[in-house]
Amino acid sequence: MSAKIISGKEVAETIRKELKVEVDELKEKYGVTPGLVTILVGENPASVSYVTAKQKAAHELGFYSIQDNQPADIAEDALLALIEKYNNNPAIHGILVQLPLPRHVNETKVLYAINPDKDVDGFHPVNVGKMVIGERCFLPCTPHGILELIIRSGAQTKGAEVVVVGRSNIVGKPMVNLMLQKRAGGDATVTVCHTSTKNMVEHTKRADILIVAAGRPKVITADMVKDGAVVIDVGVNRIGKTPEGKAILCGDVDFDAIKEKASAITPVPGGVGPMTITMLMKNTVQAAKQAAGL
Ligand code: NAP
Repeated sequence: MSAKIISGKEVAETIRKELKVEVDELKEKYGVTPGLVTILVGENPASVSYVTAKQKAAHELGFYSIQDNQPADIAEDALLALIEKYNNNPAIHGILVQLPLPRHVNETKVLYAINPDKDVDGFHPVNVGKMVIGERCFLPCTPHGILELIIRSGAQTKGAEVVVVGRSNIVGKPMVNLMLQKRAGGDATVTVCHTSTKNMVEHTKRADILIVAAGRPKVITADMVKDGAVVIDVGVNRIGKTPEGKAILCGDVDFDAIKEKASAITPVPGGVGPMTITMLMKNTVQAAKQAAGL
């Protein structure tokens, strides 16, 4: 049996069409234009491409958007002052600081400086806390996107065994929390694996839904997956370059072998990736509506 391919690209397109309708209505009915600023410090090529894709998506949806490029040696105080400027700008509803930041800048301090009402990446502790207790908040974009993919794929989560590989603050930990929540798309029994987990295969083999965010190419092999499992591959690993100089990407799971065993699987690229940016757009629309009291 070959698995159904869960196309994040297609789901993301559907959500963006829904968002476009919402944005047009916000503009026409209420005179509200969602505003997003993306702040890029330095010129890390991966960061440049992520920020460019975010700006393109914002532009296509008709947002008011600013791309704010800052030099790699910007002083921490200057970056904090810049964030404060956008905190106080009523035309900006969402502030995104592209990570990672240069070493001399304290990332935590910078993320904490963003007004939680404009924290469309969902990394501020106020939003993280609200997420954990199941209150309405800005959900972090990648786990939020994964949740949407799981819901829209029709996979049953209530009572399912969900195994998350990876416990980072941006993917693994929030994912665990979302799958635990007693509501649609959650209500699962959740296990989390990391580098100190013993006999990881014993856990992954039990998973009805296996979510892998380890950042290690093909760390999950077919023998680690249960027949009929739903497999979500979050990993983006650059494993080489084409003769034209384009990066060759692969995920954290052995896609070719596992697709013969799983019931559904996300590809890399074209799986979780397109969802992350789309959820950032969704959060920005939510921020604009909240700011307008809608
Ligand atoms: P990270 O901060 O490096 O965290 C990786 C996690 O995986 C850690 O908790 C680590 O365990 C665990 N881990 C690593 N190797 C493992 C192994 N062999 N067995 C079990 N656990 C292992 O990475 P991240 O930021 O969460 O990102 C993970 C991957 O997702 C990366 O490839 C990243 O590029 C990708 N990603 C994609 C998107 C997207 O939009 N598609 C967004 C974000 C991230 P310890 O805690 O014990 O070290």
